[in-house]
Amino acid sequence: MAALKDELAQLQGQISRAGDVATQALLHREATYVALDIGDTGAALSHALSCLELARASHDLPLQVKAHVTLAIVQAEGYDDLGAAEQFRAAEKLAEQAGDHRGVALVVINAAHYLMERGQYLEAATRLHDLWHSPHVDALDLPESVELRQAFHINYVVSATEVLMPEASTDHDVLKPRLAESAGELRRLNAHRGNLTNALRTLDVLDALMRHALCEGDLTASRQLADEFVHLSSGVGSGTMSGRALFSRSRLMARMGQWAEAIDDAQAATAHFARDHQDLWVIRCREALADAYAHTRRYHEAFEMQRAVTRQVESLYRQNQQQRALLGQITQQAREADVRAAAFAEAALQDALTGIPNRAYAMQLLTDLHTQAPHAASIAVALLDLDHFKQVNDTWGHATGDLVLSRVAQTLRAEVRAGDSVARFGGEEFVVILTGVTLAEAQESCERLRRSLTGLDWNGFAPGLHTSGSFGVALLDRQRDLKATLLAADTALYQAKAAGRNQVRAVSEPVQR
Ligand code: GH3
Ligand code: MG
Ligand code: MG
Repeated sequence: MAALKDELAQLQGQISRAGDVATQALLHREATYVALDIGDTGAALSHALSCLELARASHDLPLQVKAHVTLAIVQAEGYDDLGAAEQFRAAEKLAEQAGDHRGVALVVINAAHYLMERGQYLEAATRLHDLWHSPHVDALDLPESVELRQAFHINYVVSATEVLMPEASTDHDVLKPRLAESAGELRRLNAHRGNLTNALRTLDVLDALMRHALCEGDLTASRQLADEFVHLSSGVGSGTMSGRALFSRSRLMARMGQWAEAIDDAQAATAHFARDHQDLWVIRCREALADAYAHTRRYHEAFEMQRAVTRQVESLYRQNQQQRALLGQITQQAREADVRAAAFAEAALQDALTGIPNRAYAMQLLTDLHTQAPHAASIAVALLDLDHFKQVNDTWGHATGDLVLSRVAQTLRAEVRAGDSVARFGGEEFVVILTGVTLAEAQESCERLRRSLTGLDWNGFAPGLHTSGSFGVALLDRQRDLKATLLAADTALYQAKAAGRNQVRAVSEPVQR
């Protein structure tokens, strides 16, 4: 536990030093799982939300899928099944959209785990079965999917054996061939434990194989695996793992009619789970105990045990509701933060004075157009610099200068065609981006803009003020880089200024790189 706390503190330090949001998101994800292992659900939730926020900021879709899954796991651990389901759905949708096969597999395998925890084995097995027969399954062969693949087989064997247990209703024979294959894969893993990523995985494999042997009616093999499971679990220092091993063996003993052993194991398991606050597992153990007492005619104890279960479920339900409300509130806050972040992002691309797009927006648009532009150049960039603008400020004051800039911006925006864009490039400079034009057409458009600037009437508010601008136009094409195009437009603009201002100049020859 102390080691885990150190690890969490270390991660916290790494997060504050990490340079980019994607790395930070991944570190928050790691911290979430450490916090869950410690049992600090508050810290886990906070890390999971930070992970999601940063993953969104990174625009990395597979990372966002992972973040949603992480948040789902935290919510499911807090019994917020509705919230978890919502996150799993969001993750799956994103993964599908992004063609992120591994992401889809990650969602299904984790969602199946929680379905199993809730006793919904058929649904879990069906989802895993469908995953296996979907195009997403190839992602399990990727080198980074080794653990995910192991988790698939473990979850499949556990869920399918529960569905196929002798006393359960049949009609699910469709699961059998896959079950045999997954069990085979787990047997291979068990024979070469070095390939298992950690000790807890080894225990999961033993658990699954024990269930499989039981399902097959091989009680001897099942008993051996159960003993090994209990023995190894006592060495890893996880109460929950010990509890699971004892509970599994208790079920096996019950099936074999060895009620005294079944009761011993179930009682020991209950104590482990209670210490770790694993309420659902405590409930499961107590139900098994009540059942074992009834089989051995200890009816009074059976009754008391069942009543304890009822009280515990009721209390869990109440906590669950509170938790749900809390998580709902947090999700709402996250959503509002998202809206705020979007508004900030939009504002960052807008010029504060004129309200039209800013230089950052123009550069982003130009970069996009430049990478997508067809070989036959059809996009023009015009740089516009207002003439003698310093005089405007000097004569009428800076505030008037500001108003002039705003009105010029609105005029330009109103004058350009629907598909074209205007942005304030800085100071009294603007950029006009024209699409689907020849150089001559772009020049003509700029002529029109030039006339609209000279035509502005300022008499009502600054008598004697005149506006005009000089334009430099260049065509954008893939053969030269964006900087060269902007430089060419700037050179043409300089020529327009030198030739007496209030005119449009174009670069007819592409400038050599
Ligand atoms: P030219 O015809 O050669 O372009 O002459 P100019 O006076 O326009 O050129 P110069 O670059 O010397 O001056 C630009 C002026 O634009 C100076 C600066 O104060 C003014 N300016 C830049 N940004 C703003 C702004 O946001 N508001 C106001 N009011 N003035 C601005
Ligand atoms: Mg200037
Ligand atoms: Mg100027």
